[in-house]
Amino acid sequence: MIKINENFLKLQASYLFSDIAKRVNSHQQAHPDETLIKLGIGDVTRALPAACIDALHKAIDEMATDSSFHGYGPEQGYDFLREAIATEDFQARGCAIESGEIFVSDGAKCDSGNFQEIFSTNITVAIPDPVYPVYVDTNVMAGRTGGAEDGRYQGLVYLDGNKENGFIPEPPEQSVDLIYLCFPNNPTGAMATKAQLKQWVDYALDNKALILYDAAYEAFVQDPDLPRSIYEVEGARKVAIEFRSFSKTAGFTGTRCAYTVVPKDCMAYTASGEEVSVHDLWNRRHTTKFNSVSYPVQRAAEATYSPEGKAQIRELITYYLNNARYIREQMEQLGYECIGGRNSPYIWIDGKSDSWEFFDLLLNKAAVVCTPGAGFGKCGEGYIRISAFNSFEKVEEAMSRISRSL
Ligand code: PLP
Repeated sequence: MIKINENFLKLQASYLFSDIAKRVNSHQQAHPDETLIKLGIGDVTRALPAACIDALHKAIDEMATDSSFHGYGPEQGYDFLREAIATEDFQARGCAIESGEIFVSDGAKCDSGNFQEIFSTNITVAIPDPVYPVYVDTNVMAGRTGGAEDGRYQGLVYLDGNKENGFIPEPPEQSVDLIYLCFPNNPTGAMATKAQLKQWVDYALDNKALILYDAAYEAFVQDPDLPRSIYEVEGARKVAIEFRSFSKTAGFTGTRCAYTVVPKDCMAYTASGEEVSVHDLWNRRHTTKFNSVSYPVQRAAEATYSPEGKAQIRELITYYLNNARYIREQMEQLGYECIGGRNSPYIWIDGKSDSWEFFDLLLNKAAVVCTPGAGFGKCGEGYIRISAFNSFEKVEEAMSRISRSL
């Protein structure tokens, strides 16, 4: 008899986006002439940069001729892309990361979800709240938790984000083994300073722990004093894995390309305490289960590092950041406390009421869709997330509707 992995039964159904869709649909049916403005989902809305489109066309043409055709590529990604990443994203910023430490993939979602596979189910995992749900759910599936009680899984160490810590949790008193961090944060838009990241790196060094650092929104960091990578912190090469993505950086959400940095200095331990290279384990896992990203897509990702590509990406990011700044300013003028929106495309707003009540208010009175913070964890209750991914015209219209209705 085929038996299931019963850990899947522990998963709480995520009603967030289906609940949003239901409320949006019934609102639309009741008000068929109204145009809703959607600032809910974290998906980009602007076209791929021209440099990427040119590279895609060129690469597709190569695939049309036997002499330049590409079949399976290296599982870790083509050297041309791994080298561009190591040089431009890390070495140019003083981080000692080499191309052999880069694993190209089709998404930071898969990588941040899959990475836990190479560790024992018998470890203690610390996860922030509110949080991108992938980290929690993949640990539940793997059997590292008990059942859910009052919205939280037994066995996980939750790192509470709140107004007092600015949604940047400090290391816990107790010892944990695997730590998830995400900066700039989804959903809160909070961005940690180098000193705050150093506390985590030092904690991981002291506890022989490992940090999984999700930097999918790194391109939105503009403040020169803020870290663009965890490897800017001394010692991080020994205790941190970094996930990056071209999704939000260059509009690749539908094109799919990302990468994970696994430094060769990172070690994990056997039950008897012997050191094992995390890089070697991940390489084994990655080459067994993944056949890399298509050649044209890797060429398109490489094009983001050309002079034209860099300028076009800068323009994209500046555009969304301008939306974010505008949303934050408008909400603050209306008397709402906000986090994010400065080095992040997300604005996290204290709605001064129940998350869903505030969501309904914006939907019913302003015809604007946001995301209720409670959907990202217990500590998100009372907040909403507004995303800057839309045209400036729509953002402007949304904000004027919101100010008229509040
Ligand atoms: N990590 C975070 C924090 C995200 O918010 C998202 C997407 O919204 C991802 C990863 C997914 O990135 P990708 O499109 O590369 O899978």
